[in-house]
Amino acid sequence: MAKQHILVTGGAGYIGSHTCKVLAQAGLEPVVVDNLIFGHRDLVRWGAFEEGDLRDSAFLDRVFQTYQPVAVIHFAGYTYVGESVTDPAKFYANNVVAAMSLLDAMRRAGCAVFIFSSTCSVFGMPDQLPLSEKHPQAPISPYGQTKLVVEKMLADYERAYGIKHVVLRYFNAAGADPEGECGEDHDPETHLIPLALFTLMGRRNLLKIFGTDYPTEDGTAVRDYIHVMDLAEAHLLALRHLLEGGQSDAFNLGTGQGYSVRKIIQVAEAVTGLTMAVEEAPRREGDPPVLVSDSSHIFQDLGWKPRYSDIQSLVETAWRWHQNRHG
Ligand code: UDP
Repeated sequence: MAKQHILVTGGAGYIGSHTCKVLAQAGLEPVVVDNLIFGHRDLVRWGAFEEGDLRDSAFLDRVFQTYQPVAVIHFAGYTYVGESVTDPAKFYANNVVAAMSLLDAMRRAGCAVFIFSSTCSVFGMPDQLPLSEKHPQAPISPYGQTKLVVEKMLADYERAYGIKHVVLRYFNAAGADPEGECGEDHDPETHLIPLALFTLMGRRNLLKIFGTDYPTEDGTAVRDYIHVMDLAEAHLLALRHLLEGGQSDAFNLGTGQGYSVRKIIQVAEAVTGLTMAVEEAPRREGDPPVLVSDSSHIFQDLGWKPRYSDIQSLVETAWRWHQNRHG
């Protein structure tokens, strides 16, 4: 039997490339659609590549006709929260208009399975922790807002057009493929773990700690870091769930374990045997003190279990990747 094609938008990006690897290992055939604004051509290694923009309907129609994908995994989108405040138009265009264009192409092609990359930012400032799917959704950035709009759109598109979906709300993705074939490569890089590692490699002079007066054990913000391979596996499980006739659903996706900024610095120093200069800086606007996932829903319903997310492996795999990529 011919392999089933899975259309992966943003498949040349960080989480998308790891997911393509996991799909290929599971016997599926990823087809990457990416405009390469943030993606990297060399991270497309596990299937066909189509370069283009999701708002280009003719391009999408051609891709759907060529590959006849049985499902779409939609990673493509803009993620810089700060920029979403200063230039929301860019985010509505790339996150909302593009998703709608993609869903409409699916309707025309008769493709009815959709996995969506969402974020814990759809919840805004948490008032209960850990964060479960039942937490009220009140995003505080245009970025979070655009993701929530698509979540709502998906419910409406299912009711009216029968497109089934799984929404995966990521906490803090980190780490890299343990085999070193793909990893994180953002420009500009804003995330804690890569910036800590860049400082240890000497690519930066110091690491700023944003906020030391949070109501947490050591005063720094706590996040739920999840290994990108564990995230990738959750996409495979979500895909199987829908392809086997399961219902649409939304899942929070983290490990349930939080680490402070200072703890991450400590682990990064221990793993590498190096030390870094740090500077205590004011809080970053809009950063909640603690974000930790209640992932019991995905544990129970999809049988997902983090396998790579212990904090040492997370930092270690990222360290190996960055040394090879930039060393
Ligand atoms: N952070 C920091 N210094 C940095 C980058 C991030 O102290 O150079 C903090 C940030 O304020 C947050 C945590 O590290 O509390 C994780 O930030 P990141 O940007 O990696 O992910 P986010 O939680 O913002 O999605």
